[in-house]
Amino acid sequence: MGRLFAVEIVYRGIFQKNLAKNISRGIVLAAKHDGKTGISFGRYGDSPERNGIPAKNFAIVATDDETLQEGMAKYEPKETDISISVDDTLCKGVESWAWYGLQPINRLLKPNGTLIVTTMKGPEAVIEMCHRKDAPYRLALLTAIPSFSGLWVYKDDHTDVRILGAIAKVLPELLSLKSVEKAIKEEWHDDLKVKSAQKAFERVTTSVVSPQEGNPEKPYEFELPKWYELREGLAIPSIPKGKEIADPVSQQTGGFRPDRNPTFKKYSTRTMRPVVDFDTCVKCTLCWLQCPDSCFDVTPDGYYDANMQACCGCGVCEAVCPVANCITMVNETAFADNASQWEMWKKEKPAYKTWLQEKIQHKPERSHGFWVRGQYEKQVDQMVKDGIVDTGGEAITEKVVTDVGEASAGG
Ligand code: SF4
Ligand code: SF4
Repeated sequence: MGRLFAVEIVYRGIFQKNLAKNISRGIVLAAKHDGKTGISFGRYGDSPERNGIPAKNFAIVATDDETLQEGMAKYEPKETDISISVDDTLCKGVESWAWYGLQPINRLLKPNGTLIVTTMKGPEAVIEMCHRKDAPYRLALLTAIPSFSGLWVYKDDHTDVRILGAIAKVLPELLSLKSVEKAIKEEWHDDLKVKSAQKAFERVTTSVVSPQEGNPEKPYEFELPKWYELREGLAIPSIPKGKEIADPVSQQTGGFRPDRNPTFKKYSTRTMRPVVDFDTCVKCTLCWLQCPDSCFDVTPDGYYDANMQACCGCGVCEAVCPVANCITMVNETAFADNASQWEMWKKEKPAYKTWLQEKIQHKPERSHGFWVRGQYEKQVDQMVKDGIVDTGGEAITEKVVTDVGEASAGG
């Protein structure tokens, strides 16, 4: 029996769908040049995708057909040689469509496997977000602003080929840089993309993460009900209505916090979160009314507290708030927990102000999807100016995607 390689690409639904497809397809095409065979595919259960929802693509590669067939007999890989997170906030945990509960980003990694992350952060900050694992693994960082585009228009900032170059560095047994170069020429006919892959090969940095390192939070676990616990007729218990909240200082109770689905952790959809300046809030109710996910708890003193377990980071509250700078969307990587902002403010108002000002520094917010024609060209241009993307002076443009249905590359 030959050797089987499994790679998962964890991405944010819609915004990174084409990126994930390009990476998994590119892995198989490159591995073919090394004499291997493989298949790339999206996880069936991840469709349809809600904006920002964590989703997965896989590339399964084998040294021979028989090994590939055996590997494909599973619904999806139970372990991976490489897991790729194309958005660093996914390192806080991923929850696809409410049927797994929140899962660590490194859950499927084999001992000594490699987690590749695109990020502007250093290894310490990324490790802090990832849940602890029983076995050691390697963390490979590719310096990049996480790439978000859309289903129909693709921001071609070379993240796809840079990831391929990084894979060639961290697991040369899977594919070589030479094969990556050949696959890029064959698939994209673009020498500039070849250069980007070569640079990523040189620049990717790797460190070893020991079992004691990382987020100590216990990841979500659930037990399926036993047969004798199943009830007749009603299979899904409804969610209770909710209740009043206690003020952390006066202990006065009041307001209303709706009970929420205890299983589906919507916050793993979030790449930004709102922070609220309660000192300037005029209690107009608009954020509470307009939040599409009913995230705001009504506090006993009449404020509105965005519940961070429930918020998916859409930014509607910031857009509707009539008071300038009262709600600000901030990059999710700036936060280590989902604590209540209102409780923090009630307990220590000057400290909250300092905290708020520090967090607001973590703008600029992330780009979510396609707003205007030419937007991605401008963004990539800015990244070139900032030295994040090195094109050697040549222009990169946004591309209209015409093959969104194409998700597999057989070998
Ligand atoms: S960003 Fe604001 S409006 Fe959107 S889900 Fe979160 S609290 Fe609600
Ligand atoms: S929209 Fe702004 S001002 Fe109105 S209640 Fe919400 S935070 Fe306060």
